[in-house]
Amino acid sequence: MSRKAQTTGKPIFVVHLHKAKTLHYDFRVEIGGVLKSWAVPKGPSTDPKQRRLAVLVEDHELGYADFEGVIPEGEPGGGAVIVWDKGTYINLKKHKGQPVPIEESFKNGIVEVWLEGKKLKGGYVIVRTEIGGKSNNWLLIKMVDDYADPSRNPVENEPESVISGRTIEEVEREGINESK
Ligand code: MN
Repeated sequence: MSRKAQTTGKPIFVVHLHKAKTLHYDFRVEIGGVLKSWAVPKGPSTDPKQRRLAVLVEDHELGYADFEGVIPEGEPGGGAVIVWDKGTYINLKKHKGQPVPIEESFKNGIVEVWLEGKKLKGGYVIVRTEIGGKSNNWLLIKMVDDYADPSRNPVENEPESVISGRTIEEVEREGINESK
């Protein structure tokens, strides 16, 4: 059984840690059959008071979610990548008590999801800074819930890959591309 077939049917999210020209996190959410993607320079926070800049970047294919390895130098995004977190999500967005499809929330510039990752859990909002505008600058914010924890700081304290246990430095040194 393939990894894909083992999933519950819930949509997925993944957070890649990516050591390209600058170290950043790529926060990716399955929306409309692709991974909508935001580059988050400081990474996700578990503190609702922290608003993390999340720059909308190009979509990736769903199959990229499990990519961990080294993108060759000279290619776009050249450098090491690890799966910093991964899991399923539940779309939280409602309007007048009715669920709003996540594709519509994305177009409206406000996505609300309940993450079921290994590191990231609970509600997160991704909101475009200019509602109705064309800005690629969004903010990633932890919602106030039981999983909010200002003291945890997973970016600092939980650096390893959730699929291999390796750090990005280890992947970089090994230089092994484990993608299919
Ligand atoms: Mn990236």
